[in-house]
Amino acid sequence: MAVAQETLQHLRSAGLSEVDPEIAELLTAELERQRGQIELIASENFTWPSVFEAVGSVPTNKYAEGYPGKRYYGGCEVVDEIESIAIERAKSLFGAEHANVQPHAGAQANMGVYFAALQPGDTILSMKLDSGGHLSHGLKVNFSGRLYTIVGYGVDRETSLVDYDEVLALAKEHRPKLIICGGSAYPRAIEADRFREIADEVDALLMCDMAHFAGLVAAGLHPNPMPHCDFVTSTTHKTLAGPRAGFILCKEEFAKDVDRAIFPGMQGGPLEHTIAAKAACFKIAMTDAFRDYQSQVRANADALGETLMQGGLDLLTGGTDTHLLQIDLRNSEWTGKDAEERLHEVKLTVNRNTVPFDERPPTIGSGVRVGTPAATMRGFDEDDFREVGTVMVEALADAPELPGLNARIDALCAKRPLYPGFRGYTTYAA
Ligand SMILES: *Cc1c(COP(=O)(O)O)cnc(C)c1O
Repeated sequence: MAVAQETLQHLRSAGLSEVDPEIAELLTAELERQRGQIELIASENFTWPSVFEAVGSVPTNKYAEGYPGKRYYGGCEVVDEIESIAIERAKSLFGAEHANVQPHAGAQANMGVYFAALQPGDTILSMKLDSGGHLSHGLKVNFSGRLYTIVGYGVDRETSLVDYDEVLALAKEHRPKLIICGGSAYPRAIEADRFREIADEVDALLMCDMAHFAGLVAAGLHPNPMPHCDFVTSTTHKTLAGPRAGFILCKEEFAKDVDRAIFPGMQGGPLEHTIAAKAACFKIAMTDAFRDYQSQVRANADALGETLMQGGLDLLTGGTDTHLLQIDLRNSEWTGKDAEERLHEVKLTVNRNTVPFDERPPTIGSGVRVGTPAATMRGFDEDDFREVGTVMVEALADAPELPGLNARIDALCAKRPLYPGFRGYTTYAA
């Protein structure tokens, strides 16, 4: 008994490295991995230390099923304030009438809208996966594809841009209840106003999934979809640079349906510690500093794109309006998978992707998707990205000199350190 008491006493105050050195070491290894390579995955980012603090905070202990002022548990007076602040900030940042900040992630935000707006079997018109859509917009094996009737629109074979005539024709033919714009691998601006015209013509609801480009919207560098949409969904961990989570914005007339869809419709207790982090993320996103960061994300994407094209690589649509680029490898000897692996050898982390009309399966793909948010967060400017682009081009050339390319990436990482001063997870210093 005495031994057990001592152990329990110890656990009440011990840090992770004492309790579980195996995991603490792996967390430190992951920190070093993030520091020692250049993160070009367009959906990833490096969040703020203030967000880490909120995510690791005490509301993780709290049950708060329901909404501020209407909870099913006692002791919610403080988390009510936290969640109310997060809601108000989300509304003011994006000009929305209503916000639900409880979705655990982007896929749950989309599920929340579908549950609010649709019945099983209803028709959704969304962008096809190989044209840049997202699996939660109707992939057959995803809940979306299993519960709803999915019709997909693509992009034009020549321009790789959304073909609005096709969208309208499909909308007229299939009469969807919901049209979705926005995706995961579309490098150009999403024109929600044009989708609105189509939705109005067939009396459909319109949702924009801005999971990727929400940070650009917050900074005024991408048109805000909210004025044209019934629903807008997003993640907070991509360009928005916050915690791994999601949220829903909607018109007031759908507020009750959305709130009921999330709870009790599909989630239990909200993650109030993550909601605290979302509040901090929204506060940061309102600042001039955040606008400067997003401007640099955009400038870096243009600089990288120009360098890749000068080096002979094809880009879908010939460039970008956003933070992401799609390298089209169909005119080269590379598959997406092989290119991803080669770039990994020179410490450039990217992901393979299908391109529109791809003849290769998604596990191989003919494209590589790259983005600038994460590296920009560690301070990369246009010159740094021209160097990244040059290394990419050389790594994908015949017989590259890999050790030399590796050294150039090491030099960039050393010049732009990630989380300088943070020593990892070896001590219990909060
Ligand atoms: C990333 C993404 C999501 C899903 O987000 P998760 O947080 O991974 O669930 C949804 N929609 C789009 C367009 C995305 O890019």
